[in-house]
Amino acid sequence: MNEQELQNIRADFPILQEKIYNKDLIYFDNGATTQKPRCVVEKIEEGYYHLNANIHRGVHFLSQKATEAHEAARTTVAEFLHASKREEIIFTRGTTEAINLVASSFGEAFCHEGDEIIVSVMEHHSNIVPWQMLCERKGLTLRVIPMNEFGELNIDEYKKLLNSRTRIVSVGHVSNVLGTINPVAEIITLAHNQNIPVLVDGAQSVPHIPVNVMELDADFYVFSGHKIYGPTGIGALYGKEKWLNAMPPYQGGGEMISTVTFKKTTYNELPFKFEAGTPDYIGSTALAEALRYVQDIGIEKIAAHEHDLLIYGTQRLMEIEGMRIIGTAKNKSAVISFLVGNIHPYDVGMLLDKLGIAVRTGHHCAQPLIDSLGIAGTVRASFAFYNTKEEIDEFIKALKRVVEMLS
Ligand code: PLP
Repeated sequence: MNEQELQNIRADFPILQEKIYNKDLIYFDNGATTQKPRCVVEKIEEGYYHLNANIHRGVHFLSQKATEAHEAARTTVAEFLHASKREEIIFTRGTTEAINLVASSFGEAFCHEGDEIIVSVMEHHSNIVPWQMLCERKGLTLRVIPMNEFGELNIDEYKKLLNSRTRIVSVGHVSNVLGTINPVAEIITLAHNQNIPVLVDGAQSVPHIPVNVMELDADFYVFSGHKIYGPTGIGALYGKEKWLNAMPPYQGGGEMISTVTFKKTTYNELPFKFEAGTPDYIGSTALAEALRYVQDIGIEKIAAHEHDLLIYGTQRLMEIEGMRIIGTAKNKSAVISFLVGNIHPYDVGMLLDKLGIAVRTGHHCAQPLIDSLGIAGTVRASFAFYNTKEEIDEFIKALKRVVEMLS
């Protein structure tokens, strides 16, 4: 990405011009949520001002237009993930709801007492707790893939965990704490050798690296719109048709039915079977706009720019005495978790904030991972394609000041 392209991109994100405590905002909390380009916000405004009517059931003009936009958004998501069919895309509120949907619905149909579910040690709570709740409900056991000192999953141990009782494997593509890009293709192949399906949590991958669900042969793949420059409250579940057809509905209500009588209800076909109630049709069209925006820049170009930021940021951080980077996998996304000496991460985050720099501190919704590392939390800088090396320089200058104050 050349300087001019970068400046053009930055100009698309009005919030990047904000002042925080009279300082230029440096936003390095993209792992938590990303900022929105003007076109996405305009799409939301256009939706409510010119296209708003409840979808699918209306005969009138506006309802038909809104339905077309929502269904076109489904096609955009399917194409973005390289799904084979648009019916395999279910709109959800985000990653969390998508995982809950699969845990609940797949669990209902396919899991029985004594069965096992595999997750990894580096999962976000949203890829742990729904499975734990299922385990409690059905008498299942949760098995955990461990990792090495660099934050890479131990595939030999994973192979040992797979057995005839394993019903599903659910792993993150990219760790939101360590930045590790997990070898999900290999994880899927190994599971498929034993006819075990795999869910991939793509919350931190879809915005940053190319994803092709067909090539991966993922059974389920989930992501959140707000982490890929889209609005909050919308995301998607990709599921192979054969699984989605075999799973019972997640929620009951309007839209997901074919016929209703007090004696018996029959369910709608895919994808509607899993979309009870009025969907977020304004959110879906804005999400599609965000995906188009990302596609226009090019996900490979984004990945390359963010990789440069990762390498540069890591090098510069290592200048600081007592620096400890948590997560040094060979294959890493642009997330840097760190600690400096014995300084509490919260104090670092608080003081950086006063200098206009937004980073995240704490356990990052991955308490089991943080516990396994024997630490209280980390400071996390996570980059997006609109971040620059100059921002990293300002961040390092500020961090040096902060460390001096706290040492
Ligand atoms: N999975 C990972 C790896 C995440 O980083 C996050 C959010 O930080 C989630 C799941 C949950 O996403 P959401 O809160 O958008 O549902």
